[in-house]
Amino acid sequence: MNWITKFIKPKIKSLFNKKSSKTEDNLWTTCECKNLIYKEDLQSNFNCCPKCGSHHKLSCVERFKTFFDNKEFEILETPLPKDDPLKFKDNKSYSDRLKKARSITSQDDAVLIAKGKVQNIDIIVGAQDFRFIGGSFGAASGEAFIAGVQHAIENNIPFVFFSCSGGQRMMESSIALMQMSRTTLAVNELKKKNIPYIVVLTNPTTGGVTASWAMLGDILIAEPKATIGFAGRRVIQDTVRETLPNEFQTAEYVQEHGGIDLVIERKFLSSTIGTLLNVLLKKEETQAKKDSSNVSVDQSLQSAS
Ligand SMILES: [Zn+2]
Repeated sequence: MNWITKFIKPKIKSLFNKKSSKTEDNLWTTCECKNLIYKEDLQSNFNCCPKCGSHHKLSCVERFKTFFDNKEFEILETPLPKDDPLKFKDNKSYSDRLKKARSITSQDDAVLIAKGKVQNIDIIVGAQDFRFIGGSFGAASGEAFIAGVQHAIENNIPFVFFSCSGGQRMMESSIALMQMSRTTLAVNELKKKNIPYIVVLTNPTTGGVTASWAMLGDILIAEPKATIGFAGRRVIQDTVRETLPNEFQTAEYVQEHGGIDLVIERKFLSSTIGTLLNVLLKKEETQAKKDSSNVSVDQSLQSAS
């Protein structure tokens, strides 16, 4: 190592590093449309690109802020099972991956559950953070989901979930797969109690998540251009040996083929879901009134006879 490498190069390097990281971290970001976007413009536009409309991913807290009335919500505590029960290791240990994901997201796991109001309706909302090992769904996510359902049932209020996941968590193997049936059973409990359950599929929603709770909503909504599917596009293409259309597995394609009900821009999600819940809850109220009036008619008929 000569004196140039030792003394001058690191200094020059650090000078450039500092400058570029400062610019990148604080002011600017990029988009798939390859435009440079002022971060503040992106944030004030619900994290959607002001130039191409692309919906950028949100953390759970950012999601709650875009959705709840006046950005007010309370994060509910959910059970956290024991870490890494299978002592899984690939090129990195699962416990190291968990540590890293926790430091990036400041969350215990990928799912957060919150309570708040939308158009003045009390509601429980769940969201997934894709930065937490691809939003993968393992035991902790399952526990959080079920706790959310329990809160909704105990308080008789709607449950809305924003999916954003690559599927079940590989590092938890069959424990992660079990969550598919557990969450399905939990959703059934909501349905038995006539509690509205709405899912918003955001980019991406794939694998076991699509094959369980994410497609069981009373109303299925997706954000524009979100990837929605079970198996990956290449796997399907190689299996069916046909060229698939470019828009295959996009929210719009899935809606066109009857897989989901609506594709709604992020800025309209809160108002649309609020309106839908108003309709659903009023309908339930009417149904309850109808039932009680039927009971009183039956009673009066019985007393008359
Ligand atoms: Zn863009």
